[in-house]
Amino acid sequence: MAKGNINVSVENIFPLIKKFLYSDHEIFLRELISNATDATLKLKHLTSIGESKSEYGEPKIEIKIDKESKKLHIIDQGIGMTADEVEKYINQIAFSGAEEFLDKYKDAGKDAGIIGHFGLGFYSSFMVADKVEIITKSHTDAPAVRWTCDGSPEFTLEEADRKDRGTEIVLHISEDEQEFLEEARIKELLTKYNKFMPIPIKFGTKEINDPEFTPKTTKDKDGKETTEPHKQITVDDIINNPNPAWTKQPADLKDEDYSSFYRELYPMQFEEPLFHIHLNVDYPFNLTGILYFPKMTNDLNIQKDKIQLYQNQVFVTDNVEGIVPEFLTMLRGVIDSPDIPLNVSRSYLQADGNVKKISSYITRKVADKLKSLFNNNREDFEKKWDDIKIVIEYGMLSEEKFFEKADAFALYPSVDGKFYTFEELTNAIKAKQTDKDDKMVILYASNKDEQHAYIQAAKDKDYEVLLLDSPIVSHLMQRLETSKENISFARVDADHIDNLIKKDDTTISKLSEDEKTKLDELLKEVVPSEKFMVQLEAMDSNASPFIITQPEFMRRMKEMQQTGGGGMFGMGNMPEIYNLVVNTNHDLVNEILNTKTRKKQERLINQSLDLARLSQGLLKGEELTNFIKRSYDMIK
Ligand code: ADP
Repeated sequence: MAKGNINVSVENIFPLIKKFLYSDHEIFLRELISNATDATLKLKHLTSIGESKSEYGEPKIEIKIDKESKKLHIIDQGIGMTADEVEKYINQIAFSGAEEFLDKYKDAGKDAGIIGHFGLGFYSSFMVADKVEIITKSHTDAPAVRWTCDGSPEFTLEEADRKDRGTEIVLHISEDEQEFLEEARIKELLTKYNKFMPIPIKFGTKEINDPEFTPKTTKDKDGKETTEPHKQITVDDIINNPNPAWTKQPADLKDEDYSSFYRELYPMQFEEPLFHIHLNVDYPFNLTGILYFPKMTNDLNIQKDKIQLYQNQVFVTDNVEGIVPEFLTMLRGVIDSPDIPLNVSRSYLQADGNVKKISSYITRKVADKLKSLFNNNREDFEKKWDDIKIVIEYGMLSEEKFFEKADAFALYPSVDGKFYTFEELTNAIKAKQTDKDDKMVILYASNKDEQHAYIQAAKDKDYEVLLLDSPIVSHLMQRLETSKENISFARVDADHIDNLIKKDDTTISKLSEDEKTKLDELLKEVVPSEKFMVQLEAMDSNASPFIITQPEFMRRMKEMQQTGGGGMFGMGNMPEIYNLVVNTNHDLVNEILNTKTRKKQERLINQSLDLARLSQGLLKGEELTNFIKRSYDMIK
């Protein structure tokens, strides 16, 4: 038996390992299974090029718990190691790898972010074990060897009697890590990290119906049928799917394959995704994956089923911030790339050239897919619009490239359910909705019911009204107004319709200047000035006599501030101020002016004001109660 010291320069690597990776102890299993997978794939390669006499067969990796003697075994049928190789790879390379990793980890400090996902390798087993054994037999003729180390720099190396090719790692689980002897805990880890690894992983056995056996059905004399019980057989419980959908070619997959893979990824997700995007690129970086568009709700915060990041089929994280453009983090699915550096902090990751390229590739692919969905089946795309618009609008706001591309598929629905692209919209409304200053005014509503009267007023003029109701749309309008020429958005209740799209033909006022002054004074005395700004307008005599509006600029700034950024500082706290537009050409206004008693004038004004408030949904509580009572009094 040989004895030796791993390295004398750092005597305390093991306490360091325990200390630095305290929260990440569980990753030891992923590291060991990754090694076992690599060893198996290496053998596969060697046998395929005729460099190994060994029979590749159908190797698997087995995880075994020995509760009684407190051991955890990771067994592979891979390439194995000779004594020399153990000396070289485990004592020297693995050790220096671990040392280097810890150095980096120390430097990165608390801001480590993604660090810790990879790198520590074999030595991470000392996070959970007092003693580690490696029993390994090389695929060559070399005899098997056993390496033992108890967490001090001392190790022993001796011949062992393992006959089969491959490596068995035995972890003597330490007293305070006993959770790793629990079947449920190991199963949880295997499902989290190894669900899609390329070599079958066995964890225990399970009973299944024997596929060779067909239960017989017999009839008794009364004609009652009985079927004999199915024969059960015991098979290996393979916990992973070694060939997940993203590793296959898109041409080999049907729609069902994509949806069943979605369920495999998110077993608790019962809603079907709207569509998928298969990512597949090998130059200038390697990346595969499948992204799914789920049905979106307006609530951007709730999301637990996230995009998962893999490296060669090993789960790394479901925090893809910095790798996937922010607006796409709302999607689901998988991305797998060996080219994403994982031993670095997040801030470094965001500056990495490759990572930037990956992010813009994903953006481009998503835009291309949306465009082809729109072109191939516009009707279907329109149906899905409500569920995807938030991602698209968010993307248009946050990624310049996406904003440009989105012109081809971003939709602007009308209140009547017609969908326009921006170009179609401007062509449709150009003639009617261009004002005297040559500016095209795009009218919209945010709520069909609440703004019904205003929508109607616009429709009476033969104007088109859009329905724009997502929470970030005010930001998007702002963005469109600055990038497209000579357009502006106006919500239908931002002013009287004739003021929203000002034409040259001014309506003649029926009131004289004197009468106007009189009316203005009267209204200002009766209408509470802290809530309404009175504005006299000579409008069509058929238009409503009293209309409440809220100026576009103020309202939009407020909305933008409520949904974050963009708006003006302090706007969110401004009191709600409305305009009261009074149509001086309406008969009722004339009547108010000519009514003899002041009391009756006030009653007419208050009643009209309340009606205007009612149509804006602003009349509530005691004021509404009083209004109803007053109305009954009037008709009785
Ligand atoms: P890494 O896997 O990053 O190279 P590790 O510390 O995990 O670092 O392992 C060091 C080396 O030990 C590996 O590169 C490999 O050569 C060898 N090794 C580890 N585990 C096995 C195994 N199960 N079978 C064969 N060789 C192994």
